[in-house]
Amino acid sequence: MIITHTSDRVAVLRAEDIRLSVYQVGRTFRRSTRREVLRGISLQVSSGTSIGLVGSSGSGKSTLLRTLLALETPDSGTVTLQDHIIRPGSLKSLRAFRRTVQYVPQDPASSLDPRMTVEQLLREPLVCLEAEGQHSMRVREALARVELPSSAADKRPFQLSGGQNQRVAIARALVVSPAILLADEPVSGLDLPLRNQVLGVLQMLISDQGLGVLFVSHDLDAVATVCTRTAVLSDGRIVEEGPTQQILESPQHEVTRALNAARLTPGVIAQ
Ligand code: ADP
Ligand code: MG
Repeated sequence: MIITHTSDRVAVLRAEDIRLSVYQVGRTFRRSTRREVLRGISLQVSSGTSIGLVGSSGSGKSTLLRTLLALETPDSGTVTLQDHIIRPGSLKSLRAFRRTVQYVPQDPASSLDPRMTVEQLLREPLVCLEAEGQHSMRVREALARVELPSSAADKRPFQLSGGQNQRVAIARALVVSPAILLADEPVSGLDLPLRNQVLGVLQMLISDQGLGVLFVSHDLDAVATVCTRTAVLSDGRIVEEGPTQQILESPQHEVTRALNAARLTPGVIAQ
């Protein structure tokens, strides 16, 4: 895949080279809690790799994800795609970035407009981001990538199951062929078979299609299924980071030990 960055930053990159990083990022919501929600966070996600970000509710996972997506401005530190500093801005200035880095929001199924067909839902990002190629073909390819039949294109969200809608939300992120996918709790709220279905799709996208994934969850078990590396976030800091196997088998930090104790099915580790 070739990604062309237009405007003032001209670069042609191959998907396998893509690196999205945060360096020493800090964030405080001054108007409300005045609490430091992110403190000196450094993290990298690269195409073809998978990193899990785990932490309890309120630890700062979604804020970090939104910062990586240039939806939030950090108070300190930088977000970079390759060597380009990324800052929140207009759709026009971020179009190339948004084609490279896509997002599955928390509770993705509820983010789908119930009035639109799946085809319309998938065409929308292609139009907004001025994606090249034949859009109808890209819609069909995206549905196939998440193992949905092409007949799903004519359905509206209420005509599909929860797991199918979750896959539509993932397909909507994948339709622009990003190199990197940031997924915010994409399986929370799903029952076990649907959860495993969605996790299986993510595993396949990483191993067979070279997607880079940052998988955010409070569920270490789900992360262990998908991610080879894991970072543990607590109170806005990364308290532990390493191969998932090490995080599971010899957790160093008390927060990691507590997350481990809450696991459902020990023994599942991504290869
Ligand atoms: P997580 O995703 O790990 O549950 P969040 O990043 O959503 O955590 O939230 C971390 C903390 O930041 C919470 O205390 C939350 O209340 C606060 N927070 C998040 N977004 C905002 C915001 N827009 N304004 C004020 N406080 C916020
Ligand atoms: Mg969250």
